[in-house]
Amino acid sequence: MVYRIGADIGGTSVKLGVVDEAFHIVESMRIPTGEICTADGIIGGIVEACRELMVRYEIASVGIGSAGLVNPKTGYVLRAGNLPFLNEPLGVRVAKGLQVPVFLDNDANCALIGEHAAGACAGYEDALILTIGTGIGGAVMIGGRVYRGHNYKAAEFGHFIINMKGEACSCGLRGCFEQYGSASALIAMTKKCVRAFPGSLLARMAQNGIDGSTAFEAAKGGCAAAEEMLKDYGKVLGVGINSLVKIFQPQVVALSGGVAVQGEYLLNLIRPNLIDDSVVCTTKLGGGGGLIGAALLGTPYGE
Ligand SMILES: [Zn+2]
Repeated sequence: MVYRIGADIGGTSVKLGVVDEAFHIVESMRIPTGEICTADGIIGGIVEACRELMVRYEIASVGIGSAGLVNPKTGYVLRAGNLPFLNEPLGVRVAKGLQVPVFLDNDANCALIGEHAAGACAGYEDALILTIGTGIGGAVMIGGRVYRGHNYKAAEFGHFIINMKGEACSCGLRGCFEQYGSASALIAMTKKCVRAFPGSLLARMAQNGIDGSTAFEAAKGGCAAAEEMLKDYGKVLGVGINSLVKIFQPQVVALSGGVAVQGEYLLNLIRPNLIDDSVVCTTKLGGGGGLIGAALLGTPYGE
């Protein structure tokens, strides 16, 4: 049996595990990251965990998915949001500590590779993943290969424009999709709805705090104001997905991230707004997709 190690570096932890030839995670662990951690600490933690696993498994390669702008050819993370990486030779440094090939890619690309091998995008060659969290990210596969762009900046699906006269975005543009479709935007919509309907179930539930699931819980509990608000949110996501479908004509669009845990309820909000022949679903591997995809880097599945 050939085993590979995959590591998925996120804002709060590194999910690291051993993946077998059937794309199953046979063992996994978490290493904390975030603002308190240094690049040295994260890299040291990954190397240490790999060494420990290599005692027990015959490991063919190590793959790492990182948030941010990643150059898979050089093994550098150029920048990565709240992670402490700036022109960091992450892949190079991990490879130095281990005796196996080490591969690096963007975390959304890894999630798509994982879903294509063993999840919601299996059996499709043209597929797209849309990650709806604090912002919106994603990745695109064309003819079975991830499309990265000449500078590895492709598939910034949070930053195409759906409102020319919209709010200024941190990327320098105005009216980007993520300002209307992200979990942060959903939370802002929820707060506005609470102010407009102070007697609603949503307003009562909001007294315990508001997050990306509050409106869904209120709507499921029969709150008409929350239901109407979520219909509007579904329209926004429909606008974004329709634009992506017009450009890429993927066989499937898989949604991931914090909002996608709403599953069928979310899909039913979006579907009435979609143009024909769009297939939208949620990811199947959940949080494990990025780890599995990272482990497949350097194999034909990871191209
Ligand atoms: Zn933007």
